[in-house]
Amino acid sequence: MNTRTLSGLSFEFFPPKSDEGVEKLNVTRRKLALLNPDFCSVTFGAGGSTRQGTLDTVLAIRKDGLRGAPHLSSVGATKKQIREIIDVYRDYDIHHIVVLRGDMPSGTGDSGNFHYASELVAYIREISGDWFHIDVAAYPEAHPQSHSYDLDVRHFKTKIDAGANSAITQYFFNADAYFHFIDRCAAIGANVPIVPGIMPIFNFSRLQRFSEMCGAEIPRWLALQMESYSDDAASIRAFGLDVITALCERLLAGGAPGLHFYTMNRASLTTEICHRLQGKRTTR
Ligand code: FAD
Repeated sequence: MNTRTLSGLSFEFFPPKSDEGVEKLNVTRRKLALLNPDFCSVTFGAGGSTRQGTLDTVLAIRKDGLRGAPHLSSVGATKKQIREIIDVYRDYDIHHIVVLRGDMPSGTGDSGNFHYASELVAYIREISGDWFHIDVAAYPEAHPQSHSYDLDVRHFKTKIDAGANSAITQYFFNADAYFHFIDRCAAIGANVPIVPGIMPIFNFSRLQRFSEMCGAEIPRWLALQMESYSDDAASIRAFGLDVITALCERLLAGGAPGLHFYTMNRASLTTEICHRLQGKRTTR
């Protein structure tokens, strides 16, 4: 069978909360390293709650010989706190970060110095020049708080104008949404690589709940087919793999510069999708 190289791959992890979680993630990472990702990113909990865990996970990624990129969110943070974190990242010779606004836990006010991710991007450029490659978030189906689609695209462009180098999207299941977003960005001069975020389908009911919060649309045909499988885990897995592999195929064929997988700290589905895209058989 012919195999093809997948370039522009990246994987997202979250910092584990227990020793067992750390061990599991070590195993996951070593399996995913075989796919030769460009980098692995690590999420940052609201209000800096995972500050040390994010750094520890990035350092563990680097020990495996991979490039680690911490996320950094601004919500609730002061300039002093951000500068401290940036200084630590520079001390550890980290050169790639994913910059976000984040979301305040409900009921808490925003007491920080930054209102939008663009302000954090600008501040990081102000205090560290070109030290970092900065990724930001993009929303092909619009951010849930946006007032209009075109305004949301313009807000995305402010992050690029502030100094972001590239972007990773929220996950989506409709390739046309991605291509439309790319066209709208190009039309206003937001010309950076925008890598689609890919969510393998791990647990459909959990995915439905999460998608409602983050504004990702689950197509009716996909929901109905999944619901028809009820508790049949094998059919859910097989159908989910087919759907996500087909989505990735279409995105790559249409010119997507890479794929960023929300791995949920697990290796199996991401590996299987990448192997299918490469034309390889997965041995499990
Ligand atoms: P922004 O770009 O600031 O946009 C937020 C909203 O504000 C949008 O509706 C936008 O249109 C609007 N807006 C922007 N600028 C202006 C302006 N000047 N005036 C008025 N409105 C404006 N969250 C975490 O807590 N930790 C993570 O590690 C994390 N990682 C993520 C990774 C990716 C790839 C993605 C897609 C999301 C991630 N998130 C993470 C979630 C993210 O923090 C939320 O989606 C958050 O609600 C928005 O963050 P943002 O950086 O996109 O914000």
